[in-house]
Amino acid sequence: MKYKWLLFDADNTLFDFTFSQRKALENSFDHYNLEYKKEIFDEFVKINFIIWSAYDRNEITHEEIKSERFSRLFSVFGVSGIDLNEFNDYFISQLILNSKLLDGAEEILTYLHGKTNVALITNGMKEVQRPRYEQCQLKHIFNKVFISGEMGISKPNFEYFRFVHEETGNFDKGEYLVVGDNLIADVKGGKDYGFHTCWYNIHNVSSEEFENADYVINSLNELIEIVN
Ligand SMILES: [Mg+2]
Repeated sequence: MKYKWLLFDADNTLFDFTFSQRKALENSFDHYNLEYKKEIFDEFVKINFIIWSAYDRNEITHEEIKSERFSRLFSVFGVSGIDLNEFNDYFISQLILNSKLLDGAEEILTYLHGKTNVALITNGMKEVQRPRYEQCQLKHIFNKVFISGEMGISKPNFEYFRFVHEETGNFDKGEYLVVGDNLIADVKGGKDYGFHTCWYNIHNVSSEEFENADYVINSLNELIEIVN
């Protein structure tokens, strides 16, 4: 194996987070007897993007995100009288319940198991990421898991990757390969730290920012050739 450590992003790299979010939102609206329509999910994705970008700039905390995202969503669709924190708790329970691996994830992780070390490097709330990881049927394959919400620092920060590096034996940086769908958090963050990087171009889009990627793949099984 060319690499001692493979560092996998979780959402939309190994786990189908788009699916989980849609199901969780649908089920939460249903649970509260609110009418659900497709536009609600589209708006939620937009709001999440804005809010998590604000989080990356340290303008909002994890705690504030929980109610703020639904406060904004409900104001767009004229929903009132819902306890935002309770709604958020229900939504999170549904996110965990509706966790699903992406195509090819189980195959590549099973292939790598025992041949090299594998870690999960994920940004997100500990209330979501930790239980989802604990109930994942492939949990035993991960040698380590790094959840930004537990660490107090997130990708693409240099310090996030330094922490991962130190906790995984501090091998030469060239012995690490970061695999992720996010060109900033995973690819630029990993590259800036000095790790090798692989962009999982899951939606087969063109981007000018892939210069930070040592490799680009469209499906996870392409990793087999890269690591051998
Ligand atoms: Mg991702």
